[in-house]
Amino acid sequence: EAKRTQRGSYGFYEDRLTQESQRKLSLSAKLKLALENQDLLVYYQPQYCAKNGQVRGVEALARWHDEDLGWVSPGEFIPVAEATGIIDRLGDYVLEKACNDAASWLKQGLPPITMSVNVSAHQLRFGQFIQRLSECLNRSQLPQHLLELELTESVFIERENEAIPLLKQIKQLGVNLAIDDFGTGYSSLSYLSKIPWDTLKIDRSFISQIPDDQEQCQLTATIIKMAHNLNLNVVVEGVETQAQLDFVSQRGSQIIQGFYYSPAIEKDQLEALLAAQSSA
Ligand code: C2E
Ligand code: MG
Ligand code: MG
Ligand code: MG
Repeated sequence: EAKRTQRGSYGFYEDRLTQESQRKLSLSAKLKLALENQDLLVYYQPQYCAKNGQVRGVEALARWHDEDLGWVSPGEFIPVAEATGIIDRLGDYVLEKACNDAASWLKQGLPPITMSVNVSAHQLRFGQFIQRLSECLNRSQLPQHLLELELTESVFIERENEAIPLLKQIKQLGVNLAIDDFGTGYSSLSYLSKIPWDTLKIDRSFISQIPDDQEQCQLTATIIKMAHNLNLNVVVEGVETQAQLDFVSQRGSQIIQGFYYSPAIEKDQLEALLAAQSSA
C-alpha cells in the first residue's frame, strides 16, 4: 500500500516537472516569435518626488501578452529569456524603445525625466554591449544623462573582473548606473565602492511590512542613511501605502516608485501624465 502511494507521488512529481519544462519550452519559443514580430510591449512606471508630487523619472518594464497564454509576467518570462539567451535581443529591444520614447517626449516639449532600463548580467557578458548602447543613444538622440541602467548584484557573482571595467565604460559614456533590488543579493558591500553608482534602489521586500515590522523599519532607515552618506540617490520601490510613504520620506528618501502613486502604464498614458504636469 505504502509503496503504491510512493510511486504514485513520484509519478505526480515527474508529471509536474514535465509540465514545468514544457511550459518553459513553449514560453521561450513564443517569446522569440513575439520579439521578431515586435509584439513585446514596454510600459513605464513613474518615479515620483515625494516633496512636490511630480514625476522625476520612469522605469521601463517589459510586458507581454500572448494570444493563448494571456498576460505573462516578467517574473516568469525574464528568467526564461535569461536562461535561453533571448535576453540579449529582448534587452536591446527594450533599450531601443525606451530611448526612442524618452527622446520623443523631449521633442514634444514635455519636461525632461530620467529613463531607467533594466540590464541583465547576461547582456553585459554577451559582448559589444558598450557599442550597442552608444549606437542606441546616437540613433535616438536621447541625452546620455537622462538614461540610467539598472543592474542587480548578480552582475558581480561571476566574472567580477570583467564587470567592473565595463560598468566604468558605461559611466564614461555619461550614462547613469543604478543598483537594483538592493539588499536581496548575496554579494558583499565592497562593490558599492568599486563602482561609481549614481542611484540605489531599495528592494520592495524591505518596505512591505513598514511600519509594523520594527526590523524592516530599522533596516530601511539604515540603508537610506548609508546611501546618502555615499552620495547616492535613493529610490524606494514598492511603496503602496501612505504610512510607508511617510516613513521613508521622513527618513529623507524622496524618490518613490510604487503602486501608491502608479503601476507601470502605457506610453500614451504617461505622455498625458507628463503633459498635465507641465501645464499645471
Ligand atoms: P524590477 O526591476 O525590480 O522592477 C520593479 C518591479 O516591482 C516591477 O515588476 C513593478 O511592477 C513592481 N512594483 C513596483 N511598485 C510596486 C508596488 O508598489 N507593489 C508591488 N507589488 N510591485 C511593485 P514587474 O514589471 O513585474 O517586473 C519584475 C522584474 O522583471 C523586474 O524587477 C526586473 O527584474 C524584470 N524585468 C522587467 N522588465 C525587464 C526588462 O526589460 N529587462 C530585464 N532584464 N528585466 C526586466
Ligand atoms: Mg529595475
Ligand atoms: Mg527592483
Ligand atoms: Mg527585480
